[in-house]
Amino acid sequence: MNLRSRLRHGLAVVCLSLISAIAMAETAPAPGALPDTAMPSVITVPPEAQPSANFNADAATNAYLAEIPATAKARSDAYFEGGYWMILWDFLYGAIVLLLVLNFRWSATLRDFAERVTRWKPVHTLVYWAEYTVLTTLLTIPLTVYEDYFREHKYGLATQTFGPWLMDQVKGLGVNIVLGGILVAMLLGVVRRLPRTWWIWGAAVSTAFVAVVILIVPVFIVPIFNKVTRLDDPKITQPILSMARANGIPVNDVFQVDASKQTTRMSANVSGFGRTMRITLNDNLLRRGSPEEIQSVMGHEMGHYVLNHVYKSIVFFGIQFVIFFAFLRWGLEWSLRRSGEKWQIRGIGDTAVLPLAFLLVSIFGFVTTPISNTITRTQEHEADMFGLNASRQPDGFAQAAIHLGEYRKMSPGAVEEWIFYDHPSGRNRIHDAMVWKAENLKIMSP
Ligand SMILES: [Zn+2]
Repeated sequence: MNLRSRLRHGLAVVCLSLISAIAMAETAPAPGALPDTAMPSVITVPPEAQPSANFNADAATNAYLAEIPATAKARSDAYFEGGYWMILWDFLYGAIVLLLVLNFRWSATLRDFAERVTRWKPVHTLVYWAEYTVLTTLLTIPLTVYEDYFREHKYGLATQTFGPWLMDQVKGLGVNIVLGGILVAMLLGVVRRLPRTWWIWGAAVSTAFVAVVILIVPVFIVPIFNKVTRLDDPKITQPILSMARANGIPVNDVFQVDASKQTTRMSANVSGFGRTMRITLNDNLLRRGSPEEIQSVMGHEMGHYVLNHVYKSIVFFGIQFVIFFAFLRWGLEWSLRRSGEKWQIRGIGDTAVLPLAFLLVSIFGFVTTPISNTITRTQEHEADMFGLNASRQPDGFAQAAIHLGEYRKMSPGAVEEWIFYDHPSGRNRIHDAMVWKAENLKIMSP
């Protein structure tokens, strides 16, 4: 195929993707109030979980789980189990797109075009990256629209209409072009200068890059999508700041984010590090959570802070990157020996190699999902235990676990939890809270 017919071929695929995305958008559901399959907003402490001489953690856990209506449980299970399949479809669909980009030599075409725009090599990579990101985003739009828009609406988790949703996607694309462009330009620079040891330096550069991204996310990235404000309701902030002081956490402010713009999910997080580190609650938690529930969630977030989870995560990333880059070096050499000529890729330092590198990223990510989930889930469990000790709100925490059950199946099997869960399951979280309560009945009694 010559250059022009190859581009025409690519355009045809892009148009088809767009048309199918728009056709799907026509049938968009209207956003509305919480569906009747949502978890109950107010959750009372069941009699079995009231402090008494014969308090039993298992019975209290089961009593809490029994407060979940059958419709809400069915919806939550279906949503979360469907997510297991989405991991597979995302992987397969993404792999097919990348193989198309390689085998139709679109990657080589994009590189040739980038080289004609300017003679300056570092800019080649940036131009290529922008073209490549737009092309692959368009090719994956049908699956993105289904997964992020229709599926979220179907389960009552999304609040955006199609226009604002699409706008967020465009913003995400912009962030990806800028941040991704910087990373790939640095990595290709390393590969070209250090042809034998690039994989070690690549891991180092990637780890440093992740650290910088974590640092700038709360200040520069989050505000692109949402409004973050200081929370100034003393009824909510006073107990939180008191808990912070009691645990040696030097914070003066708690932040809130208007997540309800996009989702009904309740959440909170610790983001940034050093001077940008902050604790943020989303407005769904503020609106639907009881004061006890909010305190228990804040205790959990403070656990991340006190236990240095952000720094530990950067170390874990570093280890994962070293293993990944060793695999990448082997995978690139092996694939280029077999098909490099067919794909018109000149070598490992050629910009056109990027789709192949991303194919190897997605294979590695797919295979190691249970390991990365387990690393995260272990930290989340540590934060849970810290949060119970700091907030002393086991019932608030049980309520939070039920509310989070709107998007996370409450009672999975042990192997299922090990493979798919990046947080402990709701059942385990309630059980932890009830075990804590059983051991602290003295301070829990009215
Ligand atoms: Zn957490």
